[in-house]
Amino acid sequence: MPPVFRFAPSPNGYLHLGHALSALLNAEGAKAAAGRLLLRIEDIDEARCRPEYKAAIYEDLTWLGIAWARPVRRQSEHYGDYRAALARLDVMGLTYRSYETRSEIGRAAAGYDPDGAPLYPGRLNTIIGADERRRRSDAGEPYALRLDMAAAVARTGALTWEETGAGPSGDTGSIAAEPTAWGDVILARKETPTSYHLAVVVDDAAQGVTDVVRGRDLFPATSVHRLLQVLLGLPAPRYHHHRLILDAEGVKLSKSTSATGLRELRARGATAADIRKAVGLD
Ligand code: GLU
Repeated sequence: MPPVFRFAPSPNGYLHLGHALSALLNAEGAKAAAGRLLLRIEDIDEARCRPEYKAAIYEDLTWLGIAWARPVRRQSEHYGDYRAALARLDVMGLTYRSYETRSEIGRAAAGYDPDGAPLYPGRLNTIIGADERRRRSDAGEPYALRLDMAAAVARTGALTWEETGAGPSGDTGSIAAEPTAWGDVILARKETPTSYHLAVVVDDAAQGVTDVVRGRDLFPATSVHRLLQVLLGLPAPRYHHHRLILDAEGVKLSKSTSATGLRELRARGATAADIRKAVGLD
């Protein structure tokens, strides 16, 4: 079977130079391996995703000279797949309901996760207490579904993944996964029946992805992805985490920096070849 690569942007802003690097590396990887390039629209954050950003993704990629295989997978059309995966984890006794608010968790945080978000203190936490939890449950208040990390890790044992790029400290080759650094991660949000981690793992398997090429900022998330793959009996892709494009202050680009937006650069007369040069290709 030929290798399958994917570029998986979220339509919550316009693409910038960092996306261009990722998309171009995926396109080149697929071409060099005589494989296919898929496009996945990661639009589960429905409050922040907008149709005009999605349309702009197609337009900007085409302008860059990138072609992708159809159909495009849009995550918002596959909630049933994520629910089925959640049901499997639930049967294994690995999920539980979490009713706390963001600020309650912030106040009780047991440190920070690799993304810098407050670490949830675990299933047996006393943030709101048993009575209040029951009250919120009886009142039908929304809850997030979390993974019981200790139970999950006890079930899978130690895990590794194959890295052909590098992590933040240059780690490459066989990487030991460290999912516990994330604590009891959210698998389904209060407002969405999935989370980034769950959706990406389910989709990579559903689309037969063999090679995940993405920015180094997602290197730590791969530990959670490997864990979920093993729990759900899904195959492991190869991973290649690439360098990030930083702004003049050395900070990773964000969607709000118009100076590095592909549309702005195009409007100012840049060509696709200029973009390749700007991201250090050629
Ligand atoms: N949707 C994610 C982003 O735009 C990328 C997910 C992935 O490549 O695994 O940052």
